Amino acid sequence: MKILVLNCGSSSVKFQLIETSLELIEQRADRLIAKGSVEKIGSSHAIVTFDVPGRERHRETPEILEHRVAIERVARLLCDPEHGVIGDPKEIDGVGHRVVHGGEKFANSTLINDRVLHEMKECIELAPLHNPANIRGYTVARQIFPDIPHVAVFDTAFHQTMPPHSYLYALPRVIHRRHGVRRYGFHGTSHRYCAYRIEKITGVDREELRIITAHLGNGCSACAIDHGKSLDTTMGFTPLEGLIMGTRSGDIDPAAVLHVIAKEELRLSEANTLLNKHSGLLGISGISNDMRELQTAAAKGNEDAQLAIDMFCYRLKKYIGAYAAAMGGVDHLVFTGGIGENSALIRERSVDGLAFMGLEIDPARNADPEARGERQISTATSRAKIWVIPTDEELVIARDTVRCIVGVIPPPPA
Ligand code: AMP
Repeated sequence: MKILVLNCGSSSVKFQLIETSLELIEQRADRLIAKGSVEKIGSSHAIVTFDVPGRERHRETPEILEHRVAIERVARLLCDPEHGVIGDPKEIDGVGHRVVHGGEKFANSTLINDRVLHEMKECIELAPLHNPANIRGYTVARQIFPDIPHVAVFDTAFHQTMPPHSYLYALPRVIHRRHGVRRYGFHGTSHRYCAYRIEKITGVDREELRIITAHLGNGCSACAIDHGKSLDTTMGFTPLEGLIMGTRSGDIDPAAVLHVIAKEELRLSEANTLLNKHSGLLGISGISNDMRELQTAAAKGNEDAQLAIDMFCYRLKKYIGAYAAAMGGVDHLVFTGGIGENSALIRERSVDGLAFMGLEIDPARNADPEARGERQISTATSRAKIWVIPTDEELVIARDTVRCIVGVIPPPPA
């Protein structure tokens, strides 16, 4: 089956066309046909990129004022006689949509029907910045591809296995009941993919393993995957909690936020911007939210950049220890995401001193400049194994779309 994966943000659409099926999943022979993105939607010079493996990148900068035009452009590019990869949109068998928030309603991916759409809309108040664009993307794509199944794959769904003692905040219970305030967790598709790959690489059923996954990208989260299920994760009610991120603070005493709001006379929206856009690596270093730039600056002796790196690694190390404690040990630690996959320094610093709990990184393997793709970076004697696994959320979305279409994942109630 040819599955179109759509990831719609407020001003962007990322897409991949993936050939997959139950048989191809089994053989791990599913294949990327094309991918690309439309950025800066709403401007007279949007940026459209289109990549087909083995071909040179195609780039356009047309006026694209809204998502409908963006997705129409994607459909046209896919079928374009010169640049395209299929002859007709009818060759597409299904569309998989990344949806950030599924609240407590969705513990799995699902075919989208009117009822599911209604429930997705009810989750908007939990993710006002993300879900509206995801839903807009779906609505438009449904009009452009009306006759094929559409599937929603939620960032939160994997974490719905968390027990109450890990997902509840110690607030009056009525706050959860009335407003849905609890830990939901995000990056679920990525954490799930890493656990799946560990199972495949090691040949050991993930239900027998205790895995800690660290997704370190622009957003960062760690997850304790206990015998195949998400037991706990660092992101919470929103993607702000937990690890230090590019521009997000991660954990902070809520009373400190109230204090700053009062002292600086901030509006709620300003406090939100402070915590989500001006904090994290950028806020500490005063230089950049990009780990590459911070590493370069720190190597040249910039103390603020060094402090940002130190804090980033220390916070992660604390969570690795906490999650090992939560699971009674750890068998595998996985690094993924732009930083996790590429920064030997961050990996080394985050597990430095954790040999006492069975985590020993091999400095040569970890820093091997030739190494690419999935690889083990722990020493031969390390009790727990440490891995780099490039994440592939789009592949998971495409595969879940197939599973929903063929009924391996049961259909939603009508
Ligand atoms: P992602 O959101 O997964 O694409 O990750 C993006 C982040 O990965 C960027 O902000 C960079 O800070 C980081 N990154 C990418 N390549 C490297 C690298 N070679 N070393 C350190 N950080 C990197």
